[in-house]
Amino acid sequence: MIREIMKDYNMMIEKAKKSALDGEVLGKADIIALLEIDPFSEDCGKLGAAAREVATAVSKDQAYLWAAIGIDYRPCPMNCHYCSLGESWGLVMEESELSEGEIIKMVQKYVQEKVQWIVLRTTQFYPFDKLMALAKEIRRNVSGKYQLVANAGEFNEQTAAQLVEAGFDSIYHTVRLREGIDTKFDPEERIKTLKAISQSPLKLVSLVEPVGVEHTNDEIAEALLTAIKFGAVVTGAMARVPVKGTPLGEYPALAKERLAQIVAITRLTAGFRAPDICVHQASELAFKWGANVAVVESGSIPRDSCCNTKTDWNGFDPETAKAWFKTCGYKVGLKAR
Ligand code: SF4
Repeated sequence: MIREIMKDYNMMIEKAKKSALDGEVLGKADIIALLEIDPFSEDCGKLGAAAREVATAVSKDQAYLWAAIGIDYRPCPMNCHYCSLGESWGLVMEESELSEGEIIKMVQKYVQEKVQWIVLRTTQFYPFDKLMALAKEIRRNVSGKYQLVANAGEFNEQTAAQLVEAGFDSIYHTVRLREGIDTKFDPEERIKTLKAISQSPLKLVSLVEPVGVEHTNDEIAEALLTAIKFGAVVTGAMARVPVKGTPLGEYPALAKERLAQIVAITRLTAGFRAPDICVHQASELAFKWGANVAVVESGSIPRDSCCNTKTDWNGFDPETAKAWFKTCGYKVGLKAR
């Protein structure tokens, strides 16, 4: 019986690899079956190796860096159950916001460090006109091949067009796991924004997040297929970091093996549709299992109660990411906008 199950896993992994290399998207039942593999098992190692092969075929072993700059450190009334900025949790003692000059300096540094995506992240109600004015100033002051990405509130097609005009290339947006349960958002509102993005020239970056021990395989598969359905060019997975003082802060952190497994499955599911697969927080294991995008963060951090930091959060900086990618057989590069 055990032998038969092992054989099935081999067949499932081979099927998933072929599907990715043929340019197909895996179906939900297949995704769930792969998510059922024990992340600490030898079979999961085979799953990861298959995903890494697909990463070579799809991304040509090119890796990329993503830098998220949290602009505003202020209590957010949306009170997502995992976010340190939620107003009701009382963790933000003193509001602050990075100045335009500080942000431009941070962008210059990241561009010099070969970061591909510069993400300007805000709390939900940060004014879009202010964000667009900031993007214009960044473009005026910092040249280079980098892409500007906004991670802000909900918007419509008209705002999408204005964001392009201001200098944004991409948007980070997603229907988060347990949206409407662990958040106050109506998932339909998040989907409306995804639709506005898909009808604009903005490229979509959309991860399965924030993954915790509480999520079922069905929920994870659904979130991944939503990202692919709306045309994400970068997908992958981000773990929920337990922040003490938030409602989900007492749940344990996801094991890095489980996050790497989910990332491997996003690689096998997305195939050529989303050539870049991101993991946050990064691990060498996730890179070995198919992730080719790593995130560094500074400014206001929603997954920590510590800070509004001018240095890279948790000590994970572009140099560390590059060293890990090199160990795992990737070259860190830049692509055209
Ligand atoms: S995750 Fe975003 S919307 Fe939710 S509380 Fe934090 S800043 Fe607000």
